[in-house]
Amino acid sequence: MNGDPRNRPHSSKNQRRQLLRLRFDEPLEALFRGQFERSAVGSRAMALIIGMLMIAATPLYDHWVLQAPDSFLKVSHFLQFVVQIPSIALALLFTLRPRLQRWSPAVMIFATLVTASGAMAQHIFGRLLGFDMPHDFAAITVTSMLILGRLRFWVVLPWALATMILTTWAQLQALGLPAFYNAVSAWMLVSISGVAAYLLEYSSRQSWYRGRLLEIQATRDVLTGLPNRRYFDLELRKLIREAARQRQNVALLMLDIDHFKDYNDLYGHPAGDQCLRLVGNSLGKAMRRPQDFCARIGGEEFAAVWFDAQPDKASELAEALRDSVHGLGIPRSLDGSSLVTASGGFAQVIAPTAGDSPRRIAADLVRRADAALYAAKRAGRSRLVMSGDHSPTAPRDTPPPEAQAP
Ligand code: GH3
Ligand code: MG
Ligand code: MG
Repeated sequence: MNGDPRNRPHSSKNQRRQLLRLRFDEPLEALFRGQFERSAVGSRAMALIIGMLMIAATPLYDHWVLQAPDSFLKVSHFLQFVVQIPSIALALLFTLRPRLQRWSPAVMIFATLVTASGAMAQHIFGRLLGFDMPHDFAAITVTSMLILGRLRFWVVLPWALATMILTTWAQLQALGLPAFYNAVSAWMLVSISGVAAYLLEYSSRQSWYRGRLLEIQATRDVLTGLPNRRYFDLELRKLIREAARQRQNVALLMLDIDHFKDYNDLYGHPAGDQCLRLVGNSLGKAMRRPQDFCARIGGEEFAAVWFDAQPDKASELAEALRDSVHGLGIPRSLDGSSLVTASGGFAQVIAPTAGDSPRRIAADLVRRADAALYAAKRAGRSRLVMSGDHSPTAPRDTPPPEAQAP
């Protein structure tokens, strides 16, 4: 989360441009599409089931209410039960089966093309046989794909137009100019639903984006831009759950800037904020792998988490990270003779048991790292203490004067 600025939403002008063209910059677009496809399943299934039931019910009123001619019914029932219903059932299968969902938009479009063409063929045959079957079922089918199909607008638009061009052409070819106004009303219906489809996708993108912005604001520290305590708590539990599943390790470093109160007293609070920004920025950049992260968990306290690091390697990484604060070279005395340092407490959990509560394991890990940090402070600061033996590693940076004091 902290490492990749491309994952963050953009400025409002750029955001509006992305919304208007119904496309976010990557990788936001890929994230949106994943969520959009998941949220479309219910609406698609509903549209397909309604379509199937409506088509399946037509023989009832064909026979009993309208008393349509047999020659019409033969053609009509063939189209309904051999062509339209099976194609809609296929789209339903691809929409509901998780393994097939990737192709759901394509099969939805196929089913719409087949159903709308079938409806137009029924209308044309009906008129030629003297039975007045409504012309607008083709346009209604395209409308339900546009609005209830929840397909991305730029994907569905060319197919909606192609279906309309095909059915209008067939209608005018077979029935001539008297069908002109029918065609006009069908195009009006589809144009209106096309605009509605654009606006629907616009507003789902807008609310998704706002939700994401809120989520980021709720999990990010404003001063440093690092993940905050809330993110740390949630993510640590998630990683521990993952570690239990994969028999992996999770390592935790708690870092606390030494004598930061004195720093504020000496340079003022705004300079203290700037120092925290510098430290936060450098810690965030030091985390290399996607699951590793660094968070600001308190005023001048940070935490770094490594997933699946070799136990020895993790403590080396922790010491290097702690040492890097001193490496920033931020003066801590007016004559510049001493630099800002940090103390660290390190703990890790190796292949946690899957049955144990991740919340409890996380709390224990934090408690051990915290105790180690406290030990590092007591031992003179600017050093790392490993949980367990609590024996401090030799500090690699120049020890501050108070560490040498008796
Ligand atoms: P120790 O070495 O024992 O950690 O000493 P310390 O002075 O760093 O620790 P202490 O807990 O006594 O003081 C922490 C200081 O951090 C006090 C507080 O004013 C400062 N601080 C906390 N949050 C912020 C912040 O957001 N900005 C600034 N400028 N200072 C902060
Ligand atoms: Mg502190
Ligand atoms: Mg401190």
